Amino acid sequence: MHFESPIKRRKSRQIMVGNVPVGGDAPISVQSMTNTETTDVAATVGQIQRLANAGADIVRVSVPSMEAAEAFGLIRKQSPVPLVADIHFDYRIALRVADLGVDCLRINPGNIGREKRVEAVISKAKDLGIPIRIGVNAGSLEKDLQKKYGEPTPDALVESAMRHVDFLDRYNYPDFKVSVKASDVFMAVAAYRKLATKIEQPLHLGITEAGGLRSGTVKSSIGLGMLLMDGIGDTIRVSLAADPVEEVKVGWDMLKSLKLRAKGINFIACPSCSRQNFDVIKTMNELEMRLEDITVPLDVAVIGCVVNGPGEAKEADLGLAGGTPNNLVYVDGQPSTKLKAENLVEELEALIRAKAAAKAKAEESIIAKA
Ligand code: SF4
Repeated sequence: MHFESPIKRRKSRQIMVGNVPVGGDAPISVQSMTNTETTDVAATVGQIQRLANAGADIVRVSVPSMEAAEAFGLIRKQSPVPLVADIHFDYRIALRVADLGVDCLRINPGNIGREKRVEAVISKAKDLGIPIRIGVNAGSLEKDLQKKYGEPTPDALVESAMRHVDFLDRYNYPDFKVSVKASDVFMAVAAYRKLATKIEQPLHLGITEAGGLRSGTVKSSIGLGMLLMDGIGDTIRVSLAADPVEEVKVGWDMLKSLKLRAKGINFIACPSCSRQNFDVIKTMNELEMRLEDITVPLDVAVIGCVVNGPGEAKEADLGLAGGTPNNLVYVDGQPSTKLKAENLVEELEALIRAKAAAKAKAEESIIAKA
């Protein structure tokens, strides 16, 4: 179970979004975006805190007005993670947030208008060392590209991205990352694959407007999964019409599934059937909720009977195999404690917490010795 990911990542140039490296050999970062009113500083800071607690490395905040720009300045001072300001068209907002302090500007240079405005934003970003995210979206392609291609296509997305890239090249500013998002999985995947061959900068992956919690998770997992399997992608955002905390959880689960990052518990659980010796689904749901705070990577198996129980439980750091009259816990592949069905969740939780604490301590001592 503990093998390394076989994925070979595309080599990209590394940029820094605040203190979070993006690209190069940096871990693939997980992003989300606030959906509070940015002018409501307390609500936005509260949501950023919840996103950070769920594991967001970077959070994006919309800055649609000058009033929001002032609020952004206050929000960033209280944010535990780097913030990207999402700005469209109005270059003055970009200049203002840059002065107030920002970790990345999401703005498409080609959409700012006159050359002087583009120059003002790029030279400010350059002076202050603020990276830029070029964010192309199939839903807002330039009119001339819509006309040229008839409809959004992968080539149209890449051509749009390259226009903005050309602006930054012209001003000799290489610190940027790019996204070419579409709600259509095929279109987004083809666009990212093409763009990956054209530039050295990091790529921010996303299937835009993917849908609700279930449908959006499936769509995003398929699209981002294909790209991540190709080694493409340096930072990801899962777009869901749901609580943004769910976006962070899904993003992490994707990276965990592909063994690109490890954090918290990786559950292995059977779907249960009439052979189960305890209520697998209830136990699993309870454990998932209770153990969200654990950050040390740990494989935990919850299997209902002896058909697959011992095999899976032995492979995990800690596994429970259902049995009669007792269920058997395995730790590091060895049979350990026997548990009755009563208080199963409480007792299992305590054992998992103890195992997680022991693993965290062992990892600390390895780091201290190194
Ligand atoms: S492991 Fe046992 S309880 Fe779980 S689904 Fe398979 S046969 Fe059923």
